[in-house]
Order: sequence, then C-alpha cells, then structure tokens
Amino acid sequence: MSSNKKIVVIGAGISGLTTAYLLFKDGYDVIVLEQKDKVGGSIETISENDFLFDRGPNSGLETTPLIQKLVKDLNLEDQFVYANREGNKRYILRDEQLHALPMSPPTFFKTKLFSSKAKFRLLAEPFIGKSKDGYYQSIAEFVTRRLGKEFLDYAINPFVAGVYAGRPEELSVKSAFPKLYALEEEYGGLILGTLRSIRKRKKSKEVSKQSAKMFSFKDGMKVLPEAITETLGNRVSTGAEVTSVRTTAEGNYGVTYRDGKQNLTLLADVVLSTVPAYNAAEIFGHFDEQLSKHLNEIYYPPVLVLYLVYEKKDVGQPLDGFGFLIPEKEEKSFLGAIWSSIIFPNRSDETKAAFTLFIGGSRDAGFVDDVEQIVIDRARREFELIMKINAEPVLITKRFWPKAIPQYNLGYVEHENFFDHFEKDNKGIFLGGNYRGGISVGDCIKNAELVAQKIKKLLNL
Ligand SMILES: Cc1cc2nc3c(=O)[nH]c(=O)nc-3n(C[C@H](O)[C@H](O)[C@H](O)COP(=O)(O)OP(=O)(O)OC[C@H]3O[C@@H](n4cnc5c(N)ncnc54)[C@H](O)[C@@H]3O)c2cc1C
Repeated sequence: MSSNKKIVVIGAGISGLTTAYLLFKDGYDVIVLEQKDKVGGSIETISENDFLFDRGPNSGLETTPLIQKLVKDLNLEDQFVYANREGNKRYILRDEQLHALPMSPPTFFKTKLFSSKAKFRLLAEPFIGKSKDGYYQSIAEFVTRRLGKEFLDYAINPFVAGVYAGRPEELSVKSAFPKLYALEEEYGGLILGTLRSIRKRKKSKEVSKQSAKMFSFKDGMKVLPEAITETLGNRVSTGAEVTSVRTTAEGNYGVTYRDGKQNLTLLADVVLSTVPAYNAAEIFGHFDEQLSKHLNEIYYPPVLVLYLVYEKKDVGQPLDGFGFLIPEKEEKSFLGAIWSSIIFPNRSDETKAAFTLFIGGSRDAGFVDDVEQIVIDRARREFELIMKINAEPVLITKRFWPKAIPQYNLGYVEHENFFDHFEKDNKGIFLGGNYRGGISVGDCIKNAELVAQKIKKLLNL
C-alpha cells in the first residue's frame, strides 16, 4: 500500500538507504538527504594502486534473509561473495603467540589459549544463578560471573574490541549483547539457552551471529549502498546537510538543509533520522533539552584503520584465517588485524597479502594525543613481529575515524527508553541509525526493515 505522504530520511548510510529503499519499493514518496558528496556513511571502499581497501566495515554477517533479498532485487548476485573457508578460523594473541579460537568441544579442551582451570570453570556455567543487577550490568561483570575471569580476558575482551572497538567493563550487557542477556533471562544460563534457542531461531528464519555467514562484495562493501542509491535515483541528494527539523503550523515537519550556499526547506509528514547521535542532537535538540542530553552522552571513541600490504613471500605466519584479536592484557598498541586479502577475492594480486589493523577504540582513545606517525610505526613493528614479517610493506594507507562506533555503555537503557518516549510524543519523527538496535551492518539492515514497517503503519492509520 502506498500513500501521498512525504517521507524525508536524513543520512545515506546503510540504515537510511535501506529504509528508504524498502519504502520506495512499496510506492512511498521518499527523499534522502546526505551531507557528504558520497553515500554509504561508515561504509567506504577505495582502490589504491590496484588494492581494494575497505576503510570502514570489511564485511557483514548474513543474520537476516533481507540481505539476500536486497542482493537479488538489486541484481548484485555476481558481486556478492561469502568469506572463504579460512574466514571461520580466528586467532587470539596470548604470550606473543597466535592461538586459534576453539570452535568445537575437542579443540576447546586441546587449546593452549585457556588454562585447565579456566576450562573447568566453564563447566560450572549451567549451575550459576542470575544477577540482581539486571540492566545495570557490564558485559565484564556478566561474563566473569558466568564463565570466569580468564574467559573474560582472553575471549570476550578481544571480541568486544573487534566488534565495538569497546571495553567489556564499560559496555552494558543488556544493550550491547541483548541476545546473550536474554539467554540468561529466558533459560537461566548460556549453555542451556544456546541449545534451546537454536530450535526457536529455526522457526523465525533468523540466523545467530555465531553461525551467520560473513559476506562482502567483489568491489568492496560500498557496492550495496551505491546500488541502492542508483535505484533511488534523484530521490537521494548528496551535499545536502540538514541543519534543523521544525514542526509547522499545518502539523507536519519542515526539514531545512544547506545545499551549496542556499538553505532549502522540505515539508514532510515523516522524518527519519539515521545520522550519528551527536549530529541528531544538533538537528532535533531544540525539541527537548533532555533529548540533546541523551544523544550527546553517547560515546563514540576514535579509531585509526591502518592498511598494510606486503609481498606474500615475506609473511612467515601461515595465512589460514580471518585474522587475530589482541586481549588488553597483552598490552599491544593495536586491537587486532584482519587478513583482508585472504578471506575475500579481489583485494590484491596473488603475490601480495593485504592486512587491516585497528588502533584505538575505548581501550586506547588517548592515541590521538600522540604523533600519528609514531602511532603507526609502533603498531607496524608489533604487527610484523607477530606475523613474522622481515620486509617493508609495499603499501601503507589509513583512515582516521574521530568518532567511530557508538558505545552501548552502562545505563544505555535510559537512552533507549527516552528515545522510545520521544518518538511517541512526536508522531512522525523516528530516530534510527546504529545507536539504536545494534551497530553491525546486519543489525542496521534488520532495524531499517523494522523502522520501514513502523513508518508504513503510522501512515496507513
Ligand atoms: C572503522 C569501522 C569498522 C567497522 N567494521 C564493521 C564490520 O566489519 N562489520 C560490521 O558489521 N560493522 C562494522 N562497523 C559498523 C558499521 O559499519 C556501522 O555501524 C554502520 O555502517 C552504520 O550505518 P548507519 O547508516 O547507521 O550510520 P552511518 O554509516 O554513520 O551513516 C550516517 C550518515 O548520516 C550522514 N549525516 C550526518 N549528519 C548529517 C546531516 N546533518 N545531514 C545529512 N546527513 C548527515 C553522514 O554523513 C552519514 O553518511 C564498522 C564501523 C567503523 C567506523
């Protein structure tokens, strides 16, 4: 069902573009305004000297059937690629050695990544009760209580750095890992809950993050936002920075944006914001002082993404995995590295090996105060030692994200509740994007579908 109501989406990242696309396909009148001169938001792919560098997300997880649907609708079947088999193998650094993360009970009992004490501690998990702290529990508290401190230090700490560029002591288990939290709430434990929830998930056709397949595109992650934009045509305006949204006397919204030197205003029945929280504070702040406060409190740590390419023959470490993550306890100056050219085709020619390193995040936000070249040299030296590389890289390039990924920190539930109330009190305004409902590309796509449904429901009342 369509309507003649006008929908304005602010931000052409994957969240905004996916919602706009779904609404457009259903015949709704939708316009996307994007401040930059390119689409994709955090998704950025560049080609440099025949190397393909994804400067934001390297891949997504196929957690929802909507991803395949988009690929088919947009004729991207030839571009779509799954990570090769090596992509399943992940390493963790401990005592200067890379240890494969165990993926089955036999490999778990054999691994040297965890001590025997830590392995036995895991067996106690089904017998551990719930915490009284409920919502106000960090992922660190939750995991230490259920699985033990060593599991926190050598599995969860590096994992959280890999997903959020975050720290488990700061992230809320309920908001940042809602499925994990729900396993304890619904089934009383993680092991029992995982087994029981598999059956439930099969029915909903959703795929858990642990078993979802990793995907990208031959020409990099930018392929998806660019294909959506092509379909939307002149419904996407780049170089259009939204400065404010105001209610009009007629009861709809005026969306004012800067296009070159001129200020223009569009009238809209529905406004969907998918910009980062700190940008949303500027656009909607005047609606409610409390809204600005909640939006501005969401922390986005800085991340430096470093791309290093070497001759493959110069890399002593066997390249048979996705890459490795570094626990904070190992005291290195970067969070981990993805072996980019190993998992996806087309990243470099066969004779080279391309790697993506991540520096900073909440763990080491202070790196921005150091001279950038010193930061890069330090990470490079450590990386080359771990990877047994004794040669200069053939290419070094980088991308600095001053505000990379929103942290769903302790107390995040207060923000979530406030945003829900704000939307109820201001019919027609929707606050979306990666600070609501998950930061991964897969979660952003899933939430974009939910938001599209909510918008359709409102317009068809
Ligand atoms: C370095 C890095 C690595 C990552 N790695 C992964 C990964 O491997 N896998 C994964 O699943 N996820 C990863 N993520 C997370 C994921 O990429 C993002 O959470 C997701 O792409 C966010 O999409 P979004 O549309 O919600 O927001 P964004 O991509 O931030 O898009 C918001 C858009 O709004 C625009 N905007 C802002 N202000 C205005 C304004 N006033 N007017 C108009 N437009 C405005 C911005 O320019 C931007 O284009 C990574 C993120 C980063 C930064």
